[in-house]
Order: sequence, then structure tokens, then C-alpha cells
Amino acid sequence: MVKAVLAMYWSRLGSLNALQLTRPAQFWKSWLDGPLCSADSQGRVVARMEAASLRQGIHHVYERLKRNKALPDLYGLAVAVLDGHETSASYRRCCTGCLKRTTNSGQTQFYHRNVTLMLLCASPPNRPAVRLLLDLEPQQPGEGELTPALRLLERVLAAYPRAFDLLLADAYYAVAPFLNFLLGHGKQAIVVLKDERRDAYEDAAGLWAQQPPQLGSYASRNCRWWDLRDLLSWPDVHGTIRMVRSDESWTVKPQRTKERTLQTSSWVWLTTLSVAQARTEQVVRLAHLRWDIENHGFNELVNDWYADHVYRHQSQAIECFLLLAFLAYNLFHAFFALNLKPELRRGRTMEFWVRLIAADLHAVPRFALPHAPP
Ligand SMILES: [Zn+2]
Repeated sequence: MVKAVLAMYWSRLGSLNALQLTRPAQFWKSWLDGPLCSADSQGRVVARMEAASLRQGIHHVYERLKRNKALPDLYGLAVAVLDGHETSASYRRCCTGCLKRTTNSGQTQFYHRNVTLMLLCASPPNRPAVRLLLDLEPQQPGEGELTPALRLLERVLAAYPRAFDLLLADAYYAVAPFLNFLLGHGKQAIVVLKDERRDAYEDAAGLWAQQPPQLGSYASRNCRWWDLRDLLSWPDVHGTIRMVRSDESWTVKPQRTKERTLQTSSWVWLTTLSVAQARTEQVVRLAHLRWDIENHGFNELVNDWYADHVYRHQSQAIECFLLLAFLAYNLFHAFFALNLKPELRRGRTMEFWVRLIAADLHAVPRFALPHAPP
């Protein structure tokens, strides 16, 4: 059942019914050593799978890659990123795990949301970087996002005690319970600080005005950086906090107007990292990687892998299908980056390999077609 669902994700079929249509393919005989189940049985069995065993499967892949030195540190640190993600929304269907909200039109909408952790790595020599989706924790009805995030971290830190030193997160996590939890486990954090919180922190505002900026660059942007160290007065945090600000400017030339226009952005991050652990420039580069979970994780899972599709609307099924999507994602990226020889990978996109796998699933022997066209 696991192998059949993995093949469904790798070939990006998008539904159990589409998977069922490939039943006559020769491929299943060699891949499963037997026939493929019906869509209904497949959904029923996944709904009863133990999420813990699927998590062990993901851990096994991580362990093998780690042992083979395929997951190098980033700027001298092992880095992970955490974020919340909504997977589905419906006005009609709900289950015991559904969260509820009232829309502007007064309708009740049901949805599922989870907190996900992704491991980020540098590129091994001559290979693309591999990112691993390590785990997820569903948000339960009545909970805020912080509760499942801490539950997820408890489990991940027990299973992967040395997988990361630094955790990146968005502005929602710029709160003492989150930072203290990480410091208590010997881990560091970089979190975004939003405008309203920045203004509230007058110390920093005053200090920025006094300190001349360092000039630097990030991804062809010109930057001005301020690095305020050893801030002892961040409310309720058990440790010193550092605040790094980056004002960035760059030009773009839109195809339509062909006129160069200046773009700017200003970021402020809170971090528990000391200067000895990361210089200003490293903090800025690491902080920008917070978007990797959106760009390479959620966006790819939703648009390319159809991982947000509700394969069976039941909370355990949704969790297990997502964990299987994580396993499929990790194996596929490890295969693409590390297993394929560079000369085979060169000039062939990921899409090419997806189509190659899908072609195998659609190679139906002629005689197996129920009503062959005349
Ligand atoms: Zn539901």
C-alpha cells in the first residue's frame, strides 16, 4: 500500500481513482509483486496506517543520507525551518479533526492545518541541495499554532537530537515560550519581527538611530545592516537576544516598460545566535532561507505533488497521506540530487523524470484494455 501511494505521488497522478485506472500496467507486477488494490481499499488502508511507522520511514531516509554525508551544514550550522500550512478547506465536508471558521459571508468553513518542519542543507560537491520534510503535527480544534509547533518540536528533538542547531520561523513565533523552549533544548532561533512589534521595542529604535549601518550585499541586493547585540530586555526570554535589521535595495527592469525601477525591502529578525556563532552577514543569509519551506516545500507539494488533495476525509487519513507525500518528496529529491549521475541529470529537468515514471504507470498492455477500439 505504501509503495503504491509513493508511485502515485512520484507520477503526480493526483487521485486514488487515477491510480486505480493504471491497474492493468505491467509496472505493478514488478513494483508490488502483485496486483494494485482498488481506490477504495487503498484509502481505507492508509486511514488505518500508524503515523508513527511512517515517521520511522522518513527517519530511516534521513539517517541513510546523514551517514552518507549528503546533508552538509549551511554556513557552519545545521538549519531547519518551521511553518504552519493549511491543507484543505471545504464548506460541505467535515470530520472530527476539522478546524472551523466563519467567513465574511457568515458561512462556516472547515479546514485542516498542520505545522511542518523542513531540514535545509547546503549542496554537496557538484550536486543540488537536498531539503527534507522531516515531520508534521496537525493543529487540533481549539488550539493556536504554537501548541502543535511545540508538540512537533518535542517529538522531532527526541527522534532527531542532532539534526539541526538553528530553527528559522516567521513572525508568529517571535514569542518567549517558543524561544525559551529552543534555548532549553540547546537550540538557536531566528524569527522575523513584524512592524508593530518593532515599534513597541523602543530600545532598538533608539539604538538604530545611533548606530551607523554596515554595508553589505545579499543576492545582488545592496544592503545596510544594523546588528544590535546582547539585548537583555526582551520580555521573558531566558537569554540574550540579538536584533538584526537589513534594509535592501535592488533594481528591476519589467519586460513591459523596460524601465529600471528601484525596489526596497526592510527586514528585522530576532535571534538567539551569538556573534561567535554567526556574523551579521550569516544571520541575514540564514534568515532569508525561511522562505525555502514555502518555495520548495508547500508550493511544490501543492502544485506539483497534489499533496493538499483530500484523498480521504478523515483526520488520520489526512495525516498519513501527508506523511507519505513527505516520504515520496524526500526520496524523489534524494534520487534526483544524489543518485542520478551528473551526466544523466544534465539537461533533464525534474519534470522529465516525473514523466518517465508516469509513462511506466500508463504503459498498459494492449490485451488488457477491456474494450479495444476497432
Ligand atoms: Zn476534516
